Amino acid sequence: MKKASELNILVVEDDSFQRRLVVNMLRSVGVIEICDAENGRQALELIHVVGAKTVDIAICDMNMPEMDGLEFLRHLGQEKTATSIIILSTLDSKLLASVAKMSLAYGIHLLGVIEKPISVAQLQLLISQYTTTDVKSQHVETKVATPVFSLEEILIGVRAKQFEPFFQPKVDLKTGRVSGAEALARWLHPEHGVIAPYAFIDLLEQGKQIDELTFLMLEKAAAASRLLDDKGYTMTISVNLSLTSLSDITLAKKITQVVRDAGVDPAQIILEVTESAAMTDVAPALENLARLRMHGFGLSIDDYGTGYSSMQQLTRVAFSELKIDQSFVKDIATNQALRIIVESSIDMARKLGVKSIAEGVETQEDWDTLKSMGCNMAQGYFIAKPMSLYSFIEFCEG
Ligand code: C2E
Ligand code: CA
Ligand code: CA
Repeated sequence: MKKASELNILVVEDDSFQRRLVVNMLRSVGVIEICDAENGRQALELIHVVGAKTVDIAICDMNMPEMDGLEFLRHLGQEKTATSIIILSTLDSKLLASVAKMSLAYGIHLLGVIEKPISVAQLQLLISQYTTTDVKSQHVETKVATPVFSLEEILIGVRAKQFEPFFQPKVDLKTGRVSGAEALARWLHPEHGVIAPYAFIDLLEQGKQIDELTFLMLEKAAAASRLLDDKGYTMTISVNLSLTSLSDITLAKKITQVVRDAGVDPAQIILEVTESAAMTDVAPALENLARLRMHGFGLSIDDYGTGYSSMQQLTRVAFSELKIDQSFVKDIATNQALRIIVESSIDMARKLGVKSIAEGVETQEDWDTLKSMGCNMAQGYFIAKPMSLYSFIEFCEG
């Protein structure tokens, strides 16, 4: 962790008055090592001269002749420098939000945006974010290495029943009560520990072998539902269903059988289906979904808003729940366009008489915003991460 006096800061601004102003402000908060450039090209040259690793923060204007701020950010991203960025701008907030997104996509650590006129307090706040969080370690952080598995290895694991559902609570936004849980697959690998779905779902789907996992999950989720019910916790359990499975015309019957065999009413189980362009066998899929609904299962459109033809799906299938994708929920507190999309999805769900649920709820702000929009349920890290059945029961016990 560095103090302000140990930081190396680069100011990139074409307006010489503004540039001097920022430099002076930086001095006043104790920064000693400051260099400055008139545009992106000069800034990059400077970075090359002093060495990419030595500039901690670049404070950068967006509107500059020659090389503007956007291009500068792109080069920084491509060069994978460890420099963090503070954007100075007079741009409107919508545009700034998309610049922030772009920075993120280029892998740049954006400390924040200061709208002109700049104040010392704002500058100090963003710099303190750099000094209080260990930015450097975020930069060099490589993803925790997850071993790559072959389809064969995964299937051996499935057949050895090494996969378990982890449960993530779905909470009623009005009452704050747990109204259900989503069962998310985890591979409890004997050597590698807990493995997340991205390491096995795609491979299983591509290999047309996802059904074995689906049925294992369904069996365990139904058993959990039974157990929770016996303990007096009545709630729905959601299970993810791959679209590829729906082309098997006997699927609905098999699912119903497994759930009834576990002594569970299908009304306690919600099947989450992700809308997708890959829905080739439309007719059998629709037949399966209609039959599942007829047998009492809840049906949820997962990742709503990201798919291929959301509206069309709604008219074709008797869904009972609309699950708004986390990519829309994540920034609702700050992005007005997202707020409008989420709010209209909630309105539409209400008018269609289906439940709305927002996933990826991470903050109190998200929660408050969704609640004020009349969303029915929330799921996300703000409430809890997915957990083992044992922990989930403890969670329910409060
Ligand atoms: P999904 O169905 O959209 O599930 C939600 C994912 O978002 C879960 O990731 C969950 O852990 C994560 N999540 C929940 N709350 C938050 C939050 O507040 N912030 C963030 N950043 N993430 C949050 P997970 O468990 O890694 O699952 C990934 C995907 O794998 C699932 O996305 C689902 O599509 C698929 N999947 C999981 N289990 C199964 C399964 O049994 N069968 C099938 N076919 N797919 C599964
Ligand atoms: Ca899901
Ligand atoms: Ca989802």
